[in-house]
Amino acid sequence: MWLRIKSVGDDVTGGYPWSIPNRENIAPFVGPWHVPRQRTQTVERPKVTLILASRPNVYSSSPLDRIATRREEPEWIAEKLKDPETLFVPVWRSKNLIRSTEGQPEAVYISGSMAHTLRMQEDGPWAFLGVLDDRAVFALDISATEDPVPLLPENLGSFVDLRSVGWGVPRPEASVLAHARGLMHWRQRHKFCATCGNPNEVKSSGHMMLCTVCKTQHFPRTDPAVIMLVHRGDRALLGHSTRFPKATMYSTLAGFVEPGETLEEAVRREVLEESGVQVGDVHYHSSQPWPFPGNIMLGFYAEGLTEEITIDTEELVDAKWFSRDQMRNSKDHGFDLPRADSIARRLIEDWLAHG
Ligand SMILES: [Zn+2]
Repeated sequence: MWLRIKSVGDDVTGGYPWSIPNRENIAPFVGPWHVPRQRTQTVERPKVTLILASRPNVYSSSPLDRIATRREEPEWIAEKLKDPETLFVPVWRSKNLIRSTEGQPEAVYISGSMAHTLRMQEDGPWAFLGVLDDRAVFALDISATEDPVPLLPENLGSFVDLRSVGWGVPRPEASVLAHARGLMHWRQRHKFCATCGNPNEVKSSGHMMLCTVCKTQHFPRTDPAVIMLVHRGDRALLGHSTRFPKATMYSTLAGFVEPGETLEEAVRREVLEESGVQVGDVHYHSSQPWPFPGNIMLGFYAEGLTEEITIDTEELVDAKWFSRDQMRNSKDHGFDLPRADSIARRLIEDWLAHG
């Protein structure tokens, strides 16, 4: 059933307190959500299967108790900053300290005494992250130094891009590293007030920046992005972007949520804009912290209502429907799936396990 909304001037006499856009038939819907206007009764809808996340995503499952009330207790924080039992997660120019043990990446935290030496030399920004087994954990940014290696004990590890490490499975320390990286990145880029341009000062143990003039409070940002596996029967839609690290990589579509938009609407809009494919039902799968630099990825399955692909060449180089068999044997078919640490890969693997 199509709902028709009359345009202003078309005998709207009900005393509406709002104005209605001057367009005919602007919001047809079936159910509580907006569906593309082109949809007709002849569209065959595949059976919907709810697919749940089979395991946590990489960068999730933090072992820390964030214990946010402690952020407002400066005496307790000062005590913990000096406590030799305290752990510090160093961040250098958005890179994390990691060492490899038998090929497995491992986070390296530094002790309170070592951090004290570093802080005496560099006085870098810090933030209270939480408590791990009764030990306070702080992020410590040592970006001011040109070379952090001489400041640390030998063979402690090296500073690398968190994403380059290749966390294949969720491990709690990956979440702590992501937490520290994201918070320090935000801090570095919010030294000045976005309202009046004057300097901010740090509050709440690194979790708030307060403008020194207009007193506007600025909090750490996490911008939502939707990422969706569009499926139709036994096939799924994957695209290739020039931004991808590999020329042969195909992945799920994704995009940022815009103001005034639900997550489901963002899924439908992004898929339509990037590929020309219309989407019906949208089901949530899982989310993933993505501090590269400050996002959370919200993963969905989306039912493809149409098959014809018309790519947005600003966003994509190519997009195709791939069968489950092709995706299970991607190398044989000349393409690569997204990285093991990505929610895109989780969406694909959980979908493959259901057919
Ligand atoms: Zn201000």
